[in-house]
Amino acid sequence: MKRQIKEDIALIGKRLYEHELNGSYGGNFSVRDGDYIYITPTGIPKDLLEYSDILVINFSGEIIEGELKPTSEMLFHIKIYKVREDVNAIIHAHPPFATGFAIAHHPIPINIHEESCLILGDVPVVPYELTASIDLAENIGRLIKDHNALLLANHGALTVGEDLERAFRRMEELENICKMLTVAQLLGGPKYIPDDKFTQLMELKKKRGL
Ligand SMILES: [Zn+2]
Repeated sequence: MKRQIKEDIALIGKRLYEHELNGSYGGNFSVRDGDYIYITPTGIPKDLLEYSDILVINFSGEIIEGELKPTSEMLFHIKIYKVREDVNAIIHAHPPFATGFAIAHHPIPINIHEESCLILGDVPVVPYELTASIDLAENIGRLIKDHNALLLANHGALTVGEDLERAFRRMEELENICKMLTVAQLLGGPKYIPDDKFTQLMELKKKRGL
C-alpha cells in the first residue's frame, strides 16, 4: 500500500489540530485510492498520528492493512465514496465554531459571502443520529450528493474534495464562515447578497467549475 497517502493523512491530523479545527480525539479522515480506502484509526489523538497508524480497508469495511482498529465511523466514509465518484478525500472534524452551528442546527446559507459561496456552497445540517450508526451514514449519503460540506447535528462538521488539500481548505473555510456569521449575528444578523448579484456570482462559480 502507498506510504505517501498514509503520510498525507497523518499530516492532516496535525494541520487540523494546529489550526484549531479539531480536538485531539475527535474526527476522522480518509482517502480513496481505487478499490481501497485509507482511513484513520480509533483511539489515537489526531495530532500524534504516524503514517504507520493509518489503515487500509475495502468497500466492505474489511481491514486490508494495519494493526489498529479503524474509526467506528467508517460506514459514512464508505457511503460517501459510493455516492460521489468525484470525491477522493473526506475530512470529519469538530471545529468549535462550526460544531457550535451544528449544535444549534443552524445551516450556512450560500448567499452571504463570496469566498464561502465559491468554495463551500450552502451547508445543510444532517439530522442527528447516533455516531457510527447506519442511519447517520444514510443521512450523510443523501445530503452529500449535492454538497461539499455538511454540519452534523450535535456532532461536528464534514467536508469532501477531489483530494485531501481541497477537503482541508473547505474545512478551514467552513470554520471561517461560522466565525464571520457569529460576528454578524452580534451586529444584528447577516444581510444577504442582492439577488441579481447573487445570480452573477453563481454564474462565476459555474464558469470556474466550482
Ligand atoms: Zn464524529
